[in-house]
Amino acid sequence: MRRKLVAGNWKMNGSLAALVELDAIAGAASRTPTVDVAMAVPATLIAPAVARALGLMVGAQDVHGAPSGPHTGCLSAAMVREAGARFTIVGHSERRADQGETDADVRAKAARGHEQGLSIILCVGETLAQREAGRAEAVVTAQLNGSLPEVFDGAWLSIAYEPVWAIGTGRVPSVGDVAAMHATIRATLATGIGQRASAVRILYGGSVTPNNAADLLMTDNVDGALVGGASLTAGSFMPIIAAAAAISEGRPAK
Ligand code: PEP
Repeated sequence: MRRKLVAGNWKMNGSLAALVELDAIAGAASRTPTVDVAMAVPATLIAPAVARALGLMVGAQDVHGAPSGPHTGCLSAAMVREAGARFTIVGHSERRADQGETDADVRAKAARGHEQGLSIILCVGETLAQREAGRAEAVVTAQLNGSLPEVFDGAWLSIAYEPVWAIGTGRVPSVGDVAAMHATIRATLATGIGQRASAVRILYGGSVTPNNAADLLMTDNVDGALVGGASLTAGSFMPIIAAAAAISEGRPAK
């Protein structure tokens, strides 16, 4: 039985003042023992968030694929770990697009993060053109095969399926399409590690809101959510945590 993980991603948003939202989210997380709750904050907020948001896993949005060296402006896995991060996102589509990150880069980032004891949320997802061309599953499978570390397991790795066209747009795939893609991802993981793939959490991400969270979180092989916009305030993030908790506890989620 996989515990659900509800992870937020503040992207390039937030400030010390915004940590009051995190206080409220952490309070909700500590009252929700059946669900894991995590927040990827900007790197400048990792240490202050860790200092006050007990009950919540605080993480980074990226780490470099090298352990150290001449990479001005970048942060290593050891640096974010020292700041208090317990996990990092790698391979977010915004970084794949804006920074030109390749699957090989993402694989190196995941490996460096794991070496430093970070849990990893590894993102994959197709563009709208790729979906419309009927290539969504092939694209995601190729991304996974290219960016999964050589050795991995569900104790520290989660996959986030995030269709690029669903991120920040209010558009969400049908639950049937989400179920089909998550089943494909599970099967791809199984070709690498066999039955142990059943322990890897597969999150859905892309315009998750309090209105659609329950339907998505009830879908087969959806073990949680990666949430951007709706994670910025406690008012919109806490109902998503509550939906995950209700499903985990066998209560009506809506
Ligand atoms: C994201 O960027 O990871 C994301 C899921 O964003 P949003 O929820 O805003 O679509």
